[in-house]
Amino acid sequence: MAEKTIRLEVVTPEKIVVDEDVKIVMAPGALGEFGVLPGHTPFLTTLKIGSLHYQDAAGTERFAFVSGGFAEALPDKVTILAESAERSRDIDVERAKRALERAQQRLAEKGKREDIDFMRAQAALERALYRLRITSEKTQ
Ligand code: ATP
Repeated sequence: MAEKTIRLEVVTPEKIVVDEDVKIVMAPGALGEFGVLPGHTPFLTTLKIGSLHYQDAAGTERFAFVSGGFAEALPDKVTILAESAERSRDIDVERAKRALERAQQRLAEKGKREDIDFMRAQAALERALYRLRITSEKTQ
């Protein structure tokens, strides 16, 4: 008998990032990381910036970046709506390093400049750090 799977859909305003059958999904919920297996009780949650980790139908571990957003879990489907998201293999490492550097420079000015939005710089820093962390995973 074939092992049960759930449909995983990760969508941003720009694109469909993931749309496939998976065995398990681990996502960065606002209250902590959570896992969804086939048959899970329905729930809805907000997400933090972080790493979405799942096992595809062939059993391969996959990673993707999500910049926060919402997740809806149903017994046979997980839908993630994110402002931005990329599969690990689609992350541009040099771009993330440049974003990290810009954010670090802005944060280094804290207390000295009025015109910098530090919350925004902190969020940009987190996005860049997670993107870089995800690309260092062995499987993409
Ligand atoms: P940057 O300052 O480099 O734009 P950012 O964190 O502000 O980084 P986002 O606002 O999260 O970028 O995303 C804007 C768009 O660019 C999204 O479509 C996102 O998928 C894409 N994107 C951002 N950074 C990368 C990256 N390092 N590799 C691939 N796509 C990226």
